Amino acid sequence: MKEFSLIDHFFKQKTSTRKDVIIGIGDDAAITHIPDGQALVTTTDTLLSGVHFLPDADPFTIAQKAIAVNLSDLAAMGAEPAWISLSLSLPEVDQSWLEAFSEGLRQHLEYYSIQLIGGDTVQGPLAITITAQGFVPKGQAITRGGANPGDLIYVTGSIGDAGLGLAIAKGEADKVIREPLLPAHGEFLLKRLNSPTPRLLVGTLLRRMASSCIDLSDGLISDLGHILAASECGAVVDVDHLPLSTAMTESVDRPTAINYALSAGDDYELLFTINEEQKGKLETALSSVNAMAMCVGHINRSGKLELKQNDQPFATQTLGYQHF
Ligand code: ADP
Ligand code: MG
Repeated sequence: MKEFSLIDHFFKQKTSTRKDVIIGIGDDAAITHIPDGQALVTTTDTLLSGVHFLPDADPFTIAQKAIAVNLSDLAAMGAEPAWISLSLSLPEVDQSWLEAFSEGLRQHLEYYSIQLIGGDTVQGPLAITITAQGFVPKGQAITRGGANPGDLIYVTGSIGDAGLGLAIAKGEADKVIREPLLPAHGEFLLKRLNSPTPRLLVGTLLRRMASSCIDLSDGLISDLGHILAASECGAVVDVDHLPLSTAMTESVDRPTAINYALSAGDDYELLFTINEEQKGKLETALSSVNAMAMCVGHINRSGKLELKQNDQPFATQTLGYQHF
């Protein structure tokens, strides 16, 4: 199959279409329309074989994760997604791999009502780069830099699951898992690793409420650190308040669960800060969309992150995922 028919068959014909796309796949560049009063939000993430997914991972799932991690960045800004472009580096044209990959892509494009508007296809080591774009009403984007002393720190969903899921996927979980692992828990944890859910609805709800927000891709310690650096603040986090899934608490002992929740990446939950006065409004808004978020601590002026348990300092050895 030649490059152009490949693009046409696997990508152009698979995408849902949107009214705000004037020219999509097929020309030298895409042309899109940004609604009045909205700012354009753009983010890029690459998934590399052997680094972000295991080389034999299911292509359907890889495609969906590549979209999800990008949408998670938009969610963290309070943006709603509109378009993606896809840069694909493939070692060879493997029709069945591309069939499954493009089907995963198609289903997510449809689910999130977003359009694939272009990309690039090259031969090389397996790598998937997606650029996602979306909108946020002008002036309402949530950044990392707005946290203030006294603000409460919240985390959505549950954290640490993807890290434990990765240990299971690599066959390294026997060291930490209490035997036997319930099949339903194993399934849940692997799903958390392979099929993350971008918290788009919560992100948009937070627009006029949160003072700062970040998505948890590299682990709480590392990612909260980015908020503290950008906001020039410190924080206290109570490790007993970290949101843990039942699959996590029933599969490993408590220190291990806390360690995963603090240090493991790939959960794609949102961590955000709000002024204490907004607490009631936040809780009402979250329950109106059936979303969960736990208060894990507060922002202060200390300039550092302190972890506490029962009001005592909590020592941890591990740091978040670092690429270099
Ligand atoms: P050019 O050489 O002008 O960069 P290409 O041959 O790379 O053009 O791409 C032709 C068209 O197909 C362009 O519209 C481009 O955006 C699109 N395209 C290429 N690869 C992909 C891909 N993996 N997914 C989606 N669209 C793609
Ligand atoms: Mg090109």
